[in-house]
Amino acid sequence: MGRYSGKNAVITGGGSGIGLATAKLLVDEGARVLITGRSQATLDAALEHLGAHAVAVRGDVAALPDLDALAERAKDELGTLDALFVNAGIATLTPFASTTEEAYDELFAINVKGAYFTVQKLAPLLNTGAGVVLTTSVANAIGLPETSVYAAGKAALRSMARSLSSELLPRAIRVNAVSPGPVDTGALAGTMTEEAAEQFTAQRVADNPMRRLGTPGEIARAAAFLAFDATYTAGAELVVDGGATQL
Ligand code: NAD
Repeated sequence: MGRYSGKNAVITGGGSGIGLATAKLLVDEGARVLITGRSQATLDAALEHLGAHAVAVRGDVAALPDLDALAERAKDELGTLDALFVNAGIATLTPFASTTEEAYDELFAINVKGAYFTVQKLAPLLNTGAGVVLTTSVANAIGLPETSVYAAGKAALRSMARSLSSELLPRAIRVNAVSPGPVDTGALAGTMTEEAAEQFTAQRVADNPMRRLGTPGEIARAAAFLAFDATYTAGAELVVDGGATQL
């Protein structure tokens, strides 16, 4: 019997990075997990890693018909849910002077609208006592350059952890946020050149009180704690950043 035996979870963006590490932690402890993502190849590779207790549904969180289809599949595959990890997101850097309307709309469509409607569409499946975890970022608390749109979107999510909690607590459903600092995942791939990503990462390491990046597993443990164990916590944000925003 694992710690999460008999529990069901949906993890958006669960095919890679923080989402995949969380799916692995939950599956290894006995949960059944449904992961989502946009790339079928990524989801197939993740399922190989996760084994028989995981299923995958391809879809775009910014497209409401895809979220309706996700809710149907989650109901068919899992019945009801004990945890919902709203983790899918993109981390496009947008220098203020050259931010395009397209980049702005894409960031908000995926990171904000996608998260909001993921919770709305899956909320009917959540059991009494379930935990919803939104993935914010330390960018919502500090003024990092080139993150004005990304950070504003994550600040919106941080706010939603409070307001959605107030609407879902009558069903004993808690909504909280996990706020990662710099974590070693694929999030930067495709948003900048390899050289720029190396420089960006080196700067984050140098600035961090622990002089290292976080690991996906460290965020996964915090997300699992909020989803299952933080039974007297609602509307909160757990920062997992090596102390970067505190020291
Ligand atoms: P990642 O790129 O490995 O994971 C993001 C996942 O989201 C991918 O699996 C991707 O397929 C999925 N995704 C993106 N757009 C989607 C869409 N429209 N529909 C469905 N799925 C979509 O990166 P990660 O670092 O694991 O990021 C996970 C979350 O953590 C993101 O919300 C990110 O903003 C946040 N975060 C990451 C860091 C970091 O340093 N890595 C720091 C703070 C916050």
